[in-house]
Amino acid sequence: MNRFFPSRNKGLERLKGFAPHAGRDYARLRNYDLGPESHVHVSQLSPYLRHRLVTEKEVLQTVLNRHSRAAAEKFIHEVFWRSYWKGWLELRPGVWGQYRAGLARALDRTKAESGLRQRWDDACNGETGIDAFDHWAKELRETGYLHNHARMWFASIWIHTLNLPWELGADLFLRHLLDGDPASNTLGWRWVGGLQTIGKTYLARPDNIHKFTENRFNPKGLARDAHPLSSQGHPPRGEPPQTPPWNPAERVGVLIHDDDLNLNPLFESDVYPLTFTRLVTCDARSPLAVSEDVRRFAKGAMEDTVARWGARLGTDAGEHETPEAIAAWAKTNQLDQVVTPYGSTGPARDVLDDLDSRLTPQGISLIRVINPYDSMTWPNATHGFFRFKDHIGEFLDDLGL
Ligand SMILES: Cc1cc2nc3c(=O)[nH]c(=O)nc-3n(C[C@H](O)[C@H](O)[C@H](O)COP(=O)(O)OP(=O)(O)OC[C@H]3O[C@@H](n4cnc5c(N)ncnc54)[C@H](O)[C@@H]3O)c2cc1C
Repeated sequence: MNRFFPSRNKGLERLKGFAPHAGRDYARLRNYDLGPESHVHVSQLSPYLRHRLVTEKEVLQTVLNRHSRAAAEKFIHEVFWRSYWKGWLELRPGVWGQYRAGLARALDRTKAESGLRQRWDDACNGETGIDAFDHWAKELRETGYLHNHARMWFASIWIHTLNLPWELGADLFLRHLLDGDPASNTLGWRWVGGLQTIGKTYLARPDNIHKFTENRFNPKGLARDAHPLSSQGHPPRGEPPQTPPWNPAERVGVLIHDDDLNLNPLFESDVYPLTFTRLVTCDARSPLAVSEDVRRFAKGAMEDTVARWGARLGTDAGEHETPEAIAAWAKTNQLDQVVTPYGSTGPARDVLDDLDSRLTPQGISLIRVINPYDSMTWPNATHGFFRFKDHIGEFLDDLGL
């Protein structure tokens, strides 16, 4: 039984339980990975934040009810790392396309290049002979979660010791992490490989692993240098997305998707939907099959959202799996508008772009409502995190925290 249950209540319970530890304890102990049953120094809130069963604002608010901004500074920064990565990718969506193209090439190489398929399988199955790495590969598959430090070490060993294409590692994470996120994951892997802060890599060192796993591992044969991967450079930065000006039409349908299950911003206008449908996009995280646990969490989170909001959403039209099917639902119900939370760069945005191109010729508008938290943070992800971080005080003031 996976320890992450997909409901908002479970996420809030976890938040409540962790909040006392989010201050100085977190600053001191967060880098220790003590094993799957003992990730007590970090919140493990990521699957809930990923689908917005629990929001960033709620997390920050609960933590700041217990601690001063100074005491919780490290934890607050980590929550804003998520916002920063999401904003950075939203301003440069082409990086997701580059990653997917690189992944397709790497998958082709596994068919053509002698030995690569076996080395990739061994890494995915935790059969490389590097004790720590093999343990994390299994923990990832069995639990759908890895500690942040383990993700960094794992990605570093994958790229710099095993010399495997980074995109195959990023794909393994997206297929198995319950929090698998196009922004944090792609940019985290790029950062380890020296593609994100161009030329700056992350090297996993045996003594560091030994210390921060409390002597559980003593990996042998790790690379001693981490050379940056060759980079195409960053694509030019675009403009942040905005919610189009809109007034609810008479015939409105709501589309709920697993990229953002917080429906509050949709109902800030007087919307009375006739009908709603669901779209689960987690299968599109990878061209390969995502794990059953990932699917179960995403679908469970969706059902939990429907159970909480159902009375406000009109007639339940069930799940529609493709843009074609959603467009047909909108047409059959003679909708003027389909209103949905903004789906961020990655599979959700790909599907919504496709849907938009099908609805527009039918005279139906797709209104993608951006969460005010994202409108506040994303435009500031223009450069590195250190520049973004300077705005955190203003963000907290704006959130009233
Ligand atoms: C190679 C690599 C891949 C990653 N892939 C993902 C991913 O697919 N999805 C994902 O949510 N995170 C990813 N991360 C970031 C980070 O490892 C996880 O967010 C964190 O480990 C989640 O555990 P937690 O909830 O216990 O974190 P906590 O330490 O309790 O932090 C609280 C919250 O802050 C956010 N956060 C913390 N650290 C980071 C970080 N470094 N970057 C971005 N957000 C952060 C998360 O939302 C997290 O839930 C990745 C990091 C690396 C190095």
